[in-house]
Amino acid sequence: MIGLLDANNFYASCERVFRPDLMHQPIAILSNNDGCIIARSHEVKALGIPMGAPYFQVKKILDQHRAVVFSSNFSLYGDMSCRMMTLLDALVPRMEIYSIDESFVDFSGIKDISKLVHHIKNHIWYSLGIPISIGVGETKTLAKVANQVAKRKGKGPSVHILKGESAIDEALQNLTVRDIWGIGRRMSERLLGFGIYTGLQLKQVDPRWMRRQFTVMGERLVQELNGISCLSLEDVRDPKKSIQVSRSFRSPIRELEDLRSVVASYAMRLGEKLRSDGLRTKNIMVHIRTNIFQKNSPQYRNHTVVTLPNPVEDDINLVKACTRALEDIFKEGFGYHKAGVMAFDLLSQEDNVQFDLFSSLPTEDQGRKELFQALDSLNKRYGSGTVSLAACGNKPRWRDGKKNVSPAYTTRWKDLPKVFAK
Ligand SMILES: [Mg+2]
Repeated sequence: MIGLLDANNFYASCERVFRPDLMHQPIAILSNNDGCIIARSHEVKALGIPMGAPYFQVKKILDQHRAVVFSSNFSLYGDMSCRMMTLLDALVPRMEIYSIDESFVDFSGIKDISKLVHHIKNHIWYSLGIPISIGVGETKTLAKVANQVAKRKGKGPSVHILKGESAIDEALQNLTVRDIWGIGRRMSERLLGFGIYTGLQLKQVDPRWMRRQFTVMGERLVQELNGISCLSLEDVRDPKKSIQVSRSFRSPIRELEDLRSVVASYAMRLGEKLRSDGLRTKNIMVHIRTNIFQKNSPQYRNHTVVTLPNPVEDDINLVKACTRALEDIFKEGFGYHKAGVMAFDLLSQEDNVQFDLFSSLPTEDQGRKELFQALDSLNKRYGSGTVSLAACGNKPRWRDGKKNVSPAYTTRWKDLPKVFAK
């Protein structure tokens, strides 16, 4: 049996740990620069506010319901995630971290699964204050289904073990194909076209037919729903295919110099992400655009890809490459609204790399490596952007937009919560 542990409304729950006064109040979390809603508490979901809604569109209804709105605080969420995963890791034989708040668990060899999952749920709730849902099923896909059933039981921590043909069929009957893990919008539209609406209908489809229509991925999906495990628990995370840092600005940027420092700070953030995942990149895309919603002002968007002779993961090379790319596509006379940098075709730092014959051979520069290790640990401890290259300017713009960010309760001494006893 495989379990899927998933924190309930994770970001909102992290905020509540340190603000128990907000236990029953609606909470929404905003994206970087406070642009749109990226996380919602149970109460905000109940108001019908969709994920990704632009904040200005839903501000009125949030205010009416006295919702508390936070800027995103990833120092806090990341640290709480590590704590949650560490607690879990100590209780289970094998696990695979799937996302910031989700983890698959292998229960093979466990006699009393029900007892263990209830223990995990309670342990994380009492040790950390984060409510989680655990779904258990015969395959990863069924564990996901079980988790959805658990989540429907209410906003507190909950558990659901999906076992037995009739229980599985009943759960699948209540899900649309769009709700099934691994089915995106396009695939669900095609399935609907074939008259397949519910998870149960999908389970009953001939796997060979699915293979013809939707390749081997479709076939696996049907088998997983039938309790035949096709997706194993990986000990290591799938290497990410791409890493991106992109944000829209609160006010338009017109000058190349300003945009350059923004892009440089994104490049540094990208370097930080690459290094923390043990990756390097040879291909970097930079994109910029004006505000498409401002119909009266002149519009421009462009992107370009820089391919470097050798894979890199250090900020100095990344900033140089991104700056060069930006200068290629920048045009004067526009108010830029958004920029982004993306690394793709990622290589592991351990991979043997074929170096370019004609470029100078990069020797492993120990000094530079140590420099970035020190920089990463400073930024992790004191907040992203504390130490940066001069290219970023002395006031990274993208940090301006955050109005309501909560303290870094668990990673910064001065933000440590104070407790008073009366
Ligand atoms: Mg979650």
